[in-house]
Amino acid sequence: MANKLNNFDAVVVGAGFSGLYMLYRLREAGFSTRVFEAGEGVGGTWYWNRYPGARCDSESIYYNYTFSEELYKEWTWSSRYPEQPEILKYLNFVADKFKLRPDIQFKTRITGAQYDEDQNNWQIQLDDGTTVTAKYFITGVGCLSAANLPNFKGLENFKGERYHTGHWPHEKVDFTGKRVGIIGTGSSGVQAIPVIAEEAGHLTVFQRTPQYSAPARNHPYAPEYIRQSKENFNEIKKQMRESQGGQPVPIPTKSALEVSKEERERVYNDAWENGGLGIFSSYYDITINEAANETAAEFIRSKICEIVKKPEMAQKLLPSYYYGTKRPIIDTNYYETFNRDNVSLVDVKSSPIVEITQKGIKTTEAEYELDAIVLATGFDGMTGPLLKMDIRGKDGVSLKEKWMGGAQTRTYLGVAKAGFPNFFMITGPESPSVLSNMPVSIEQHVEWIGDCIEYLRENGMETIEANVDAEEAWSQHCREVAEATLFTKTDSWYTGANIPGKPRRFLIYLGGVGAYRQKCDEIAEKGYEGFTMKPSKKPVP
Ligand code: NAP
Repeated sequence: MANKLNNFDAVVVGAGFSGLYMLYRLREAGFSTRVFEAGEGVGGTWYWNRYPGARCDSESIYYNYTFSEELYKEWTWSSRYPEQPEILKYLNFVADKFKLRPDIQFKTRITGAQYDEDQNNWQIQLDDGTTVTAKYFITGVGCLSAANLPNFKGLENFKGERYHTGHWPHEKVDFTGKRVGIIGTGSSGVQAIPVIAEEAGHLTVFQRTPQYSAPARNHPYAPEYIRQSKENFNEIKKQMRESQGGQPVPIPTKSALEVSKEERERVYNDAWENGGLGIFSSYYDITINEAANETAAEFIRSKICEIVKKPEMAQKLLPSYYYGTKRPIIDTNYYETFNRDNVSLVDVKSSPIVEITQKGIKTTEAEYELDAIVLATGFDGMTGPLLKMDIRGKDGVSLKEKWMGGAQTRTYLGVAKAGFPNFFMITGPESPSVLSNMPVSIEQHVEWIGDCIEYLRENGMETIEANVDAEEAWSQHCREVAEATLFTKTDSWYTGANIPGKPRRFLIYLGGVGAYRQKCDEIAEKGYEGFTMKPSKKPVP
């Protein structure tokens, strides 16, 4: 530890994209800041998710910080969708460039934090048994950092190797010649399956819900393309910040139903050939109108039937939920992998997993003997990482109690919580978060929080706290926007339906990052409307 302080202006949880920038932003403004990080290095999600095939699915020239033009111009991405090691390298480069490490305490987990109303500060417990205090407590824990380990009967009895994609070992896992089973076909599974299949003796995929996926068509970037993106830094940054999803793509203006079938097929085909998430953003009504959605869904199903040679296998891979209402996936050779002789597919919706045995996975129909099991079973999203810590606001009431375990999750702007003064959540529930290009939403929150804390200092304010009525109105607005879409109709981690017993709630603001930024800025310009501030007893320096 570079400094031995245990009383800080701000404590930040996590050293991923959020925590690194929050540290930089506050430190530049002169606030003593300490980041606590459970891992041994920086990177957050890119530190933990090291499974084979892990890569970004936002285009790399947009999947980075834009707060520093110098940083943007110094770093050069190798390809359109780089692999996890390259993104981790980028975050290490950022930590080195801005000399962030001395203010980060690694291998330390924050277990709880209580607001002390007498002292107007946060008492923060670390897993090494010590307590530190801070005026501001800020979470940068991400939305997908609490792994979902399903409660399979007998999981601990399995004699072979067992991995979760979200906690992958740092050293290479060698599957050569082994019988591998993978449970889960979300983004992680879809990325890992083709890579593991190339190495394993045999790969058995245990699929509960078939997925829509489009080819990524990753490719190296031409030097000229990189040069242009660096030259156009300011324009790219502006477009990203004003956009719907955090990428500089035009907001679609046409309905999928107002164009001819031929025109639609051409648009979907072009998007498919171009690779990436183009189909999702082809028409404005894909996620709000069932018939429009079906056009995209049917297009992808037809592609699956084209690619997968064995008709019986293709049938099992055909999804039926509303396209895009689970996180849209992009892949490299996912459906093609099911043409391999060493890959088999087990539908665990029709024949569920009943037990993990010493030898492998047993479904209602058969037992599959395995040397290794990969759990690509996802995360307890949105509230999971926050509720893993015992965060208590005024009167000792915990976030878990306030949110009734997730049944009544309410925030103001997804960044603050009534009853929790001087507490901020970066990309918290009810902000655009995971339905946007994350670095863009992270930067917006970090800058808004940084500005707010500077405002408090300049105006001699000791505390800021969201008002209950403002929170209620924001929450209701989020729900109304979500209810007008198809997102709430699908079982997904977006709705919490992936975690048995978790209350069903859709906790992502769907109004778009541009509109959301404008709203947050307006609130700040009106002197933090919807918040109550209390003046400091000390004189303003
Ligand atoms: P996920 O999307 O939640 O997928 C989990 C998979 O495990 C699903 O197929 C799910 O089936 C299955 N599953 C869960 N519990 C099961 C059980 N008890 N029995 C059988 N199957 C079970 O998780 P993920 O793939 O880790 O992805 C989570 C999110 O992380 C993504 O949506 C994305 O936002 C992010 N991510 C991003 C990238 C990227 O940027 N490239 C890569 C990986 C992850 P059901 O669908 O039936 O629930």
